[in-house]
Amino acid sequence: MRIIIAGAGPAGFATAHWLTKLGHTVTLLEKRSIPGGKVSAWQDPDGDWVESGLHVFFGAYHNLLGFLGEVGLEDSFDWKPAEMIFAQPGGGYASIEFVQGWPAPLNGLLGVAKSKLMTFSEKLAMGRGLLKPIFGSQAYIDKQADITYQEWHLANGMGQSTIDKVMDAMALALNFQKADQVSAKLVLTALLHFAKETDAPKMGLVKGSPHERLWIPLITQLRERGVHIRFDAKVEEIQHDPATNLVTGVRLADGQILMADAYISAMPVHSLRKVMSDSMRTHAVLDNLKHLRGIPVITAQLYYDRVVTNINNLIFSSGTHISVYADLATVSPDYHKGTGSIIELVVAPAEKLFMLSDEEILALVVKEFCVLHPEATSATLVKSHIVRIPNSVYAARPGVEQYRPDQATPIPNFFLTGDYTNQEFMASIEGSIRSARRVVDRVIAAEHNGTIHTQLTD
Ligand SMILES: Cc1cc2nc3c(=O)[nH]c(=O)nc-3n(C[C@H](O)[C@H](O)[C@H](O)COP(=O)(O)OP(=O)(O)OC[C@H]3O[C@@H](n4cnc5c(N)ncnc54)[C@H](O)[C@@H]3O)c2cc1C
Repeated sequence: MRIIIAGAGPAGFATAHWLTKLGHTVTLLEKRSIPGGKVSAWQDPDGDWVESGLHVFFGAYHNLLGFLGEVGLEDSFDWKPAEMIFAQPGGGYASIEFVQGWPAPLNGLLGVAKSKLMTFSEKLAMGRGLLKPIFGSQAYIDKQADITYQEWHLANGMGQSTIDKVMDAMALALNFQKADQVSAKLVLTALLHFAKETDAPKMGLVKGSPHERLWIPLITQLRERGVHIRFDAKVEEIQHDPATNLVTGVRLADGQILMADAYISAMPVHSLRKVMSDSMRTHAVLDNLKHLRGIPVITAQLYYDRVVTNINNLIFSSGTHISVYADLATVSPDYHKGTGSIIELVVAPAEKLFMLSDEEILALVVKEFCVLHPEATSATLVKSHIVRIPNSVYAARPGVEQYRPDQATPIPNFFLTGDYTNQEFMASIEGSIRSARRVVDRVIAAEHNGTIHTQLTD
């Protein structure tokens, strides 16, 4: 079959890989001039990499690791110990360490017990309160989709103080919003993975820029295997014939119309909504995509003339806008170039910050960073980058889970992939690869059932 995939992010690439392996002829269309979607990177005028976001990969990412293994890129990560390190105002750190040598969930429970981050009574309450998700099931967690994590936490005997100290940072790292906004299901799903599998919480960071380490080698391979990959190829409209209920083609920004036997959207949900033709919205599942809203987030990169933190891992913070960050010059070998630090920070919640200028955002980020790392006060900030992402992952708020669509749609030759589609994981790179596996299954099933007609085959 001839298949068009729109969107060259993780989901689009994995889908292209598997469909090509099955012998299909794939065209991958990307609106930007660079690959990788929310995991993209580009060079500034000095040749330094600017990343769309700090990306962390977990031991629990089995589908992603399997995919990278298939394409020979399993060695792309530098793995770090499973530890949540919290920077403290005035300098210093406190952490929750998953204790090595112990199986899950004991490694995490012992980590909480040993941590200096919480008082004895807070630890006791956390230990008791988390028993349900730790020894519970996904079915129990699925039922918590309509309340916030904060509501769940408080209802289970844990106080506000542990939200302020730990769980807000976790919610912000997972979905760029605080515990009083995010659905309990999202946080509990992550906790369940950590509790069930000893290696799940280990964290990996890309050894360098995702552009060089992941996407360029992957594009080279896919092109060698016949995938037609086009950049600067923005889909403007997915054309749909209401009489036959089939997608008939995609119109690109330059007016060109491309046709295939099957069409897969690997675009983020807000982009898909913009390019669906009106008749597609008569299908409730596609109309309901309006309930999935992207969350604004900002990435900041700070280049200091000297090393301002020696932590070779992710760093979390509580009660600031810099919920999670790392020194790329320490954590990623390809960035070990000079003598200074390259601090990459996830700035969230970011909604209100979007009204500020880049200079104002930078001033806020540097101020908060210097409170946590006083050594940065005397260092020179050589340069910086601010990257705004107005619609990042979908906001996993209470009540929206029901609107995550299946990868097959009511239009027989039109399919969806992407982290927002229905799969057991949250909006993440692992989620996007899971959705790619599922969309491939759906395409195969439709082909076998004869619901896709190969009208255009040469
Ligand atoms: C700051 C930040 C930090 C993150 N950190 C982590 C992390 O640590 N761990 C983790 O697992 N996940 C993280 N994520 C989430 C992760 O990046 C996403 O879940 C993942 O990239 C989703 O992949 P995707 O392929 O579904 O969509 P995307 O990556 O969004 O890719 C979609 C692609 O579609 C393209 N497109 C859009 N419109 C069109 C059009 N009209 N025509 C053609 N192409 C189009 C886009 O340009 C893009 O390339 C982070 C995200 C951000 C923003």
